Amino acid sequence: MSTLRFQALRETLNRKPIKIKENKRRSSMYGENVFNKTTMRQYLTKDAYIGVMDAIEHGSKINRRIADQVSSAMKDWALSKNVTHYTHWFQPLTGATAEKHDAFFETIGDGMAIEKFGGGQLVQQEPDASSFPNGGIRNTFEARGYTAWDPTSPAFIYGTTLCIPTIFVSYTGEALDYKTPLLRALNTVDDAATAVCKYFDKNVKKVSASLGWEQEYFLIDKALASSRPDILLTGRTLLGHSSAKGQQLDDHYFGTIPSRALSYMSALEKECMLLGIPVKTRHNEVAPNQFELAPIYEESNLAVDHNSLLMDVMEKVADRHNFKVLFHEKPFAGVNGSGKHNNWSLATDTGVNLLSPGKTPMSNLQFLTFFVNTIKAVYENEELIRASIASASNDHRLGANEAPPAIISVFIGSQLTKALKELENVTHGKLSPEEKTDLKLNVVGKIPDVLLDNTDRNRTSPFAFTGNKFEFRAVGSTANCANPMTVLNTIVAKQLKEFKIEVDKLIESKDLKKDEAIFNVLREYIKASKNILFEGNGYGEEWEKEAKKRGLSNNKTTPEALKARVSKKTIALFEEMNVMSKIEVEARHEIELEEYTLRIQIEGRVLGDIAKNHIVPTAIKYQNVLIKNVSGLKDIFGKDFKKYASEQLNLITEISSHIENINSKIDRMIEERKKANKMDRQKAADAYCNNVKPYFDEIRYHCDKLELMIDDELWPLTKYRELLFTK
Ligand code: ADP
Ligand code: MG
Repeated sequence: MSTLRFQALRETLNRKPIKIKENKRRSSMYGENVFNKTTMRQYLTKDAYIGVMDAIEHGSKINRRIADQVSSAMKDWALSKNVTHYTHWFQPLTGATAEKHDAFFETIGDGMAIEKFGGGQLVQQEPDASSFPNGGIRNTFEARGYTAWDPTSPAFIYGTTLCIPTIFVSYTGEALDYKTPLLRALNTVDDAATAVCKYFDKNVKKVSASLGWEQEYFLIDKALASSRPDILLTGRTLLGHSSAKGQQLDDHYFGTIPSRALSYMSALEKECMLLGIPVKTRHNEVAPNQFELAPIYEESNLAVDHNSLLMDVMEKVADRHNFKVLFHEKPFAGVNGSGKHNNWSLATDTGVNLLSPGKTPMSNLQFLTFFVNTIKAVYENEELIRASIASASNDHRLGANEAPPAIISVFIGSQLTKALKELENVTHGKLSPEEKTDLKLNVVGKIPDVLLDNTDRNRTSPFAFTGNKFEFRAVGSTANCANPMTVLNTIVAKQLKEFKIEVDKLIESKDLKKDEAIFNVLREYIKASKNILFEGNGYGEEWEKEAKKRGLSNNKTTPEALKARVSKKTIALFEEMNVMSKIEVEARHEIELEEYTLRIQIEGRVLGDIAKNHIVPTAIKYQNVLIKNVSGLKDIFGKDFKKYASEQLNLITEISSHIENINSKIDRMIEERKKANKMDRQKAADAYCNNVKPYFDEIRYHCDKLELMIDDELWPLTKYRELLFTK
């Protein structure tokens, strides 16, 4: 058997799960390595504590004096935990997290040294911005950008480093990261939602968007993963014949977690506890070796940081457990891919979930207000929503028969559909007392009962209401949630702002009561956004046809989908809501297009390399074995040999034909790449998508056919059955 594959399999089969001691309550470990409120109370002066709390709760600025006190306290706390370094921790547009460590250690002359960390170092740092994607905002020669402390996300210790969550912006103020626009979007949705809440409760002072992500992933043995150049370099398999057994028996989902995976999960959860990531759920997913992990939901900015941190921790813990985590949306053809559902809601500082029906008709009217406005926002911006989850890897999921389609629609369940139908018939203008009572009793009053039986969850919907939150399911497993969350919160903010203006206008000019005005506006919104509601099978062909009739977009590929990110409407939206400037929007679009192109380019190169340097030589080797066999048979049987060698002769010619196909298709793919490389961004991305990528399947087809023909002992690449079923 081919050596690398053989060694990897042997190594894997000898592995034992690492024993994890559960000798401490999880709750007692929770947040141990986080500079959270409890720790702050202990380490900060009263002054500094109040200053930081005010910044967290009301967004006020922290002055230098307070910053000095905070940094000194952070340092004391960190040193008490044997920390040596600190870093500004941020999320550049590469998708990964970035950190540059500096030691607290400082010399003070005369051969002496101390540990030092001042307010200045806490508040601001200057990493070289030119080496991060910036979409032309920064030129290398003036590569200046800075990171600035985000006090709303607490500092934490990872390993021996104090990590300070920061934003990353250019010196001219443009965002170079995911966090900055998200914070702006959260701010704007807070303003807009708080204003609308005042119709129902004057005491509401702040509305926060909550996020509960669900992270899906594959766990593959480290040795097996390393034996595959495609997994190593692209995060997915570019070839490999499907395993005889895949997920058809449905025997993995919610099944017993394999022991090595379980010990990995336990170790991971313990790390998460220390870091204050409130992980709660773990289970097997649909595909073999596929799993999911989900936390208790949190305020969105914190939840986004926690997901980014988690992905990093997952890889590190996996390494210790001899696993490789695959976050890719489609690591294996023929079995399910991975997503990252984003559960989203809005909550007031008075403790009300605005997407959860309440106990009184008035609180239910509030629920309906936010519910209908969200639907309208999604309807008005469906293309932008689709664009917010576009990536080369997520293209494999969207539209494939396992994940929400590339068409954005909203599922709300039959009972709420009925409620909206009734609201659609509300009288224009003033309502009669009878109608008001009827609405109160039969529509608005009935919602809590309704939700109890809202169990018919439609798993094919990309955006579903699930009782007390919307679940944005089309988000990919590799995504930074900040991107879709920035878009969602911005469009909802814009919608709520419009709603407020319209309701106020009706109250003033038409002399309507507040609830009458609200009913009137909601009625129009329901009518206007009906086309986005869909309760049927999102995977079906009929839906594609129906959606087209309804005028919904169906942008199947990333280069197509991303256009909505720079439309006039999008730019106007982000500018009006103070979330991103035109320059920032355009820079991001450029980065995303380029990233798409580069990913397909890398995949094309890797596939070409594997096919030419691994598969074809193996095919020739095996063909030579066959040729030797045929010539031996000829020696024995003379001119009768064909009677005994016909199958071998068939194989020899088939192998030649596959080799010929592989080589010629690779050559043509390379030609297309060369052409594409000369084009400007949009055209290059289009060309990679439409002219280069189609060769992947064609080349793969012939490689996979060869896999079925060639002696298993010669085959160099670890096979699907080994990757998916070795535990
Ligand atoms: P599933 O979608 O797998 O059936 P659940 O519906 O139980 O799972 O919940 C999934 C996620 O939704 C969890 O991470 C949970 O924390 C989150 N969630 C629950 N309530 C809210 C909320 N109000 N806002 C945001 N996320 C929420
Ligand atoms: Mg879910």
